[in-house]
Amino acid sequence: MLLRTETSTFEFRIAWLPMKVHAIQTGTVAVKERQRSGTGPGPLRLPLTLAGRDWTDPLPIYAWVIEHPEGVIVVDTGETAHVDDPGYFPRWHPYYRLGVKEWVEPEQEIGPQLRAVGISPDDVRCVVMTHLHTDHAGGLEHFPKSEILVTGPELENASGLLGKVRGFLPHRWPEWFSPALVNLESARFGPFPESLRLTDAGDVIMVGTAGHTPGHVSVVLEDDDRSIFFAGDTSYTERLMIEGKADGVSPDVDSARLSLRRIQEFARHSAVVYLPSHDPASAQRLEERRAVAMPG
Ligand SMILES: [Zn+2]
Repeated sequence: MLLRTETSTFEFRIAWLPMKVHAIQTGTVAVKERQRSGTGPGPLRLPLTLAGRDWTDPLPIYAWVIEHPEGVIVVDTGETAHVDDPGYFPRWHPYYRLGVKEWVEPEQEIGPQLRAVGISPDDVRCVVMTHLHTDHAGGLEHFPKSEILVTGPELENASGLLGKVRGFLPHRWPEWFSPALVNLESARFGPFPESLRLTDAGDVIMVGTAGHTPGHVSVVLEDDDRSIFFAGDTSYTERLMIEGKADGVSPDVDSARLSLRRIQEFARHSAVVYLPSHDPASAQRLEERRAVAMPG
């Protein structure tokens, strides 16, 4: 009798343990202040960003690791230490000349950091890419054995010469890179009209958050009473999401604002822990499981 009581207490506690989620910081990046909070009308926003004189402090480059019962899921892969190699970034490209600085040590790459928490990259079941910018795709080389999920529009937009012109580095992707193309279904998830459930339990969901790039997605983990929202670059801080301020590099600023409004609505109606990739406060919010406090 006593034993059974102890067992059920134990099971009760297990059921309430939150899923283990790691914030992996793969170095830092500085961009123009106007990239974080954009200024000016549509087509002028990118040139105004690059012409800006004020830089942000070095910001974290986060990737995320979910220790899910169905297998380890990684959201984005962070950056590579090769950014320090001369000529790694295309010198002819105005964004790399004027708009970004990155600092990554080899031990900060996602592979070594995963091993440090006892996870072999080969055991990662799938890698979900919010988008393919270099500071999210730079660590792909660590996952030759994982299924890598990218939306069709994202891969198309980032590939080839036009992809390079748009600021992606398709020539730096691993030779074996052949992601599973995801097309989000017109399956509504809260305020998001397009989504796809990635686990049998239905608790990890890709949602469409276009704007920063045309095929940008965010990933929601429904865990206990919280929704953990891996936001990619939908905004650079929680505050900017609450204020609905689009960044200064989104090619489609209306889509970016629409995605922010959908996230606001999601956070108004449920407890959402909002985790942008470059928000210095993201790791702390994850640790505290602190939900967005929407005004009003
Ligand atoms: Zn980005």
